[in-house]
Amino acid sequence: MTSTRRWLLTTYKSSGDAGTFKWTLPAWAGTLPDGRNYNTCPGASACAPLCYARTGTYQFRNVKAAHEANLMMVLDDLPGWEAAMTAELQHPRYRGGKNVRCHDAGDFYSPDYIHAWMRIMRSAPDVRFYAYTKSISMFREHVEPDPPANFKWVYSLGGREDDLIDLETERHVDVFPDEEAVEAAGYTSRGDLGDLISVLGPRKVGLPANNIRHLKTKQGGKRFSELERERKARRRAPGKQFSSGRP
Ligand code: SF4
Repeated sequence: MTSTRRWLLTTYKSSGDAGTFKWTLPAWAGTLPDGRNYNTCPGASACAPLCYARTGTYQFRNVKAAHEANLMMVLDDLPGWEAAMTAELQHPRYRGGKNVRCHDAGDFYSPDYIHAWMRIMRSAPDVRFYAYTKSISMFREHVEPDPPANFKWVYSLGGREDDLIDLETERHVDVFPDEEAVEAAGYTSRGDLGDLISVLGPRKVGLPANNIRHLKTKQGGKRFSELERERKARRRAPGKQFSSGRP
């Protein structure tokens, strides 16, 4: 694989932890410059029209191009990307208790991609990896039986597979309209605690809605999990087809 980039991982300033890096794909569904269609978030559903990563700075031309370049790397040459990522993580900048967030946007979109990540994680045992994911059934089958010791994840509500998450026993996050709603539901707010609280803290974590006004309005004072339940109820309504396409 040829690349002029120095680093595959970039620093993740919004993590609340200075020692965190991230890998980002374009969020959800789209078309690459070469005409290929993609869906990096196969588990997305109610979250998609409210996605923080489909608006604002994520849509700036240079930012979007960098995320599309990441996706093309993994689609065109997954073994080459895996080798490059494995080699990069041996660099001294990743020593001393650093964290890597897999996907600031996008998700684990295929079993091959998940297994590539797990081999990368095992090759860098001193780095802590973490992820939010809506790819629940893929995790059940491919990750949960034998996860890398340095990988933590949290299931994220607002997706097609919400029903597979045991809300009493499994770590999960939901997006709430505001801080008051997080507290009223008995969830721990990620608030200023940083991203890592979602994988290291209590099992029920609430993310207050993004401050982007048009998204907040669209969310309409509801939780992502509520919107997803409503969406499924509408699809089950008489005369409605269950579509596997875009929400
Ligand atoms: S899964 Fe995450 S990145 Fe993908 S569409 Fe939903 S909110 Fe956006």
